[in-house]
Amino acid sequence: MALSKNQIKILKSSFDLFDIDQINSDLESLKSFEILSEEKQLYILKVLNFLYRGGHPACTDQQYNQFFNFFKKKYPNNDFILTVEPEPIIGEKLVTLPQKMLSTDKAYSKEEIIKWIDRIRKASVQYGLDENNIEFKVTAKLDGYAAFDDGNSLYTRGNGSKGRNISFVFDRGLSVFGDERGLGAGEIVINKHYFNEHLANYFDNTRNIQASIIAEKNLSQVIQKSIIDRAAIFYPFKALPSWRGTSTELIKNYDSITKNVLSDIPFETDGVVIEITNQGLKDFLGSTRHHHRWQIALKSNDESSLVEVLKVIPQVSRNGKNTPVVIFNSIRLSGAEISKATAHNYSMVKKLGIGVGSELEIVRSGLVIPKIERVIKKSSPSIPNHCISCGSVLHWIDDNLFCLNHNGCRDQIEKTIIHFFETLGNNDGLGPATISTFYDHGIRSIYDVYLLENDPEKLFAMGFKQKSALNIIDALKKSRRIEIEDWRFLAAFGINRLGYAASERILELYDISDLYNLDENDLIKIDGFAKKTSQIVINGFNLIKEQFDDIYKLNFNLKSSKLTIDSESKFLHKNLVFTGKMEIGSREDLEKIAKSLGAKVTKSVSSKTDFLILGSKVGQRKIDAAKTHNIKLLSEKEFMELTSN
Ligand SMILES: [Zn+2]
Repeated sequence: MALSKNQIKILKSSFDLFDIDQINSDLESLKSFEILSEEKQLYILKVLNFLYRGGHPACTDQQYNQFFNFFKKKYPNNDFILTVEPEPIIGEKLVTLPQKMLSTDKAYSKEEIIKWIDRIRKASVQYGLDENNIEFKVTAKLDGYAAFDDGNSLYTRGNGSKGRNISFVFDRGLSVFGDERGLGAGEIVINKHYFNEHLANYFDNTRNIQASIIAEKNLSQVIQKSIIDRAAIFYPFKALPSWRGTSTELIKNYDSITKNVLSDIPFETDGVVIEITNQGLKDFLGSTRHHHRWQIALKSNDESSLVEVLKVIPQVSRNGKNTPVVIFNSIRLSGAEISKATAHNYSMVKKLGIGVGSELEIVRSGLVIPKIERVIKKSSPSIPNHCISCGSVLHWIDDNLFCLNHNGCRDQIEKTIIHFFETLGNNDGLGPATISTFYDHGIRSIYDVYLLENDPEKLFAMGFKQKSALNIIDALKKSRRIEIEDWRFLAAFGINRLGYAASERILELYDISDLYNLDENDLIKIDGFAKKTSQIVINGFNLIKEQFDDIYKLNFNLKSSKLTIDSESKFLHKNLVFTGKMEIGSREDLEKIAKSLGAKVTKSVSSKTDFLILGSKVGQRKIDAAKTHNIKLLSEKEFMELTSN
């Protein structure tokens, strides 16, 4: 393992034990970590930990954990094990944290958890509390950057007692999940799906992004956008959904409980946290220098395996993008049978040499989709020239290969139809298998599918039995009859860059019947639509015009999202930012009111901002920034009074 120039630079600038010759020779001997002296092992752990927490990891989390656990077992009383792992502080002043932030004790198996529960039960007897009255709480363990919000400032965990004030991240527009300030400890996390969709091309992992967010240097545009899109967010632990119950229930339903608390979290997690809620018993149990005794984390083990590539198959998405899927002999990883993994794009396949016979390390942590960690042995990749679905010539656009035969490519057509019905979400019986049968019998568009509503004979001819045919007809009728939001209907067309949120922002201002009267300049004025996005969306409208008109005429029961705008309002065409915790209504409610008065609501203060509406617990820094921009400050109450005039 050799360090990159950048990693060496970081170590040189702020790692006080730095000795480059020693590090390189030590890292060279990582394979024989176990036979090194305690001192050398400690040194290596510190270097790896430093780089990892600084966002420039030199090894995988899994490798680090292996070394750490080996060291912990052998030297359980070493200070490094007993105190909170320090985060690297790069030339910053430290402040005392409002409250001590300890690490969490970690377990790696159900058996260890049961032992811990036993200890809690025994302590409760000594404390004088019936064990059936102990409430256990289980939440997801977020895998992000630890921070503490006291309502005024946000701090990094630092060494557990002293950290860095990073309140400026709120000026950068960072939101708090649930919008409530002052909830204490939490993590800055990145939405997994968003990462894969928008950031994976730029960053290897989310840690680099978290590190940039809290660094006092300029943010890259893509990270700034992820903040504004609330894909990067501070998530206080208190806002996490939780399971609560007795120890008996917990042990009995352990698997489903741990699975459930993880299922709705769209952010990276690396296990679950189990704790008790009785304050008296918590105080009785107390803490070590390292962790609270009333809390434990069950880490989901990263598992990895080496595989040999059998083939690489392109998968064509509904917009024609070809995603390389790597196929290998099936392996068992974190309890699941796996025989394929997707690579980001064909540029990666080409660059890293992923082809038949190449050897890859595949990693799967917890319940996450397996990913290609690194290429062990290269081989010559084969890059397709023609679409596997329709045979058209493929085109490179940035790092991706595209099939541009949108109207004649089976995979694209089927996936477009499937996406439409999935997005409407008010019908069943129109899944992939049914759509595929439709295609076999000449159905080429969503509109074609709706024509079947009055043509049961055709369904019979396709081989559907009476009952399934009637179900299909019923599902189609239902999809038009049941009321749905107009933005959901628009998003169902799968236009590039036009997901739920973007569709809603357009339809808050315009009737859906006016869509085709809009041009780029109209869209640019809408929050979140930059020039390029506006071009892509208008282009997308034009591509589906005929299809859209046909389907729109089918009289869907659409609920309009349009806000009625009061042209007399004081907020017409003004830029508003809401900040802090709102008391009168939720922030969403107030933003709706503002928009209905013709205001443009943005997340962060800039020179364009006209009004800053202050909830409670707003940092002084934000108020000062507003004053320097001559922004008018309004309390929530003042805002409400102005809206009612
Ligand atoms: Zn094609």
